Amino acid sequence: PIKINDGEIKFNNVTFSYTEGRKILDNCSFTIPAGQKVAIVGPSGSGKSTILRLLFRFYDIDPKIKNSSVLIDGQDVRDVDLDSLRREVAVVPQDTPLFNSSLLENLRYAKPSASDDEINDIIYQVKLDTLIKSLPEGVHTIVGERGLMISGGEKQRVAIARAVLKNSAIIGLDEATSALDTHTEQQILNTLKDVLGSRTGKKTTSIWVAHRLRTIVDADKIIVLREGKVAEEGTHREL
Ligand code: ATP
Ligand code: MG
Repeated sequence: PIKINDGEIKFNNVTFSYTEGRKILDNCSFTIPAGQKVAIVGPSGSGKSTILRLLFRFYDIDPKIKNSSVLIDGQDVRDVDLDSLRREVAVVPQDTPLFNSSLLENLRYAKPSASDDEINDIIYQVKLDTLIKSLPEGVHTIVGERGLMISGGEKQRVAIARAVLKNSAIIGLDEATSALDTHTEQQILNTLKDVLGSRTGKKTTSIWVAHRLRTIVDADKIIVLREGKVAEEGTHREL
């Protein structure tokens, strides 16, 4: 099984198509050093979410394309046992599905062994405490299609909570705070900054797909994607 030690990510001449004849990524190369916060920006449809899907292996690069690979700590993700990969890489997708079960179960799913204290901490950190207190059945309230319809921003916070609970070496956030108001977003960004910096002994590598500048101004690097390639990269100051 994979051993992710540091969490360095390398996209090596990545060429990828969902359907034949239409390249979404075209010889796309970049490196995300271990422990850094890196942002990916670019127009809608430029392949930002695709990058996270390849990292998490929702899709794979066609093996017929030679010298095209996604590497984590030097290992091709396609050679890695899927369970261990999914343990070590957390992704907050652009649109998060909730299960038709209680809020508690929706959170605990990310880490079945989580203690009540751990769950309660997370609830505070992602500012879901007020919502939960207002629900008649609190954390046991059923959410999802056949239960309480929670808002887009609340859903995003459940998704962030799940990803944080996993305590993975790598976290990908796909527009993960786009539905939050400025104030709540800032609180969540501060929380994330703390938790991503406090993994035992190591920083979490984080990849942020985001439109709003304030989510990424402090990134170590911003990668600008255009026409399937990296058009520019640098810090916010440099770009
Ligand atoms: P946005 O900012 O709108 O979220 P994005 O940069 O994340 O855009 P992707 O979701 O990576 O864009 O999609 C890149 C391209 O791939 C789009 O043109 C999209 O139509 C196409 N695409 C995405 N998913 C699929 C799929 N499952 N099958 C076929 N084409 C797809
Ligand atoms: Mg997207």
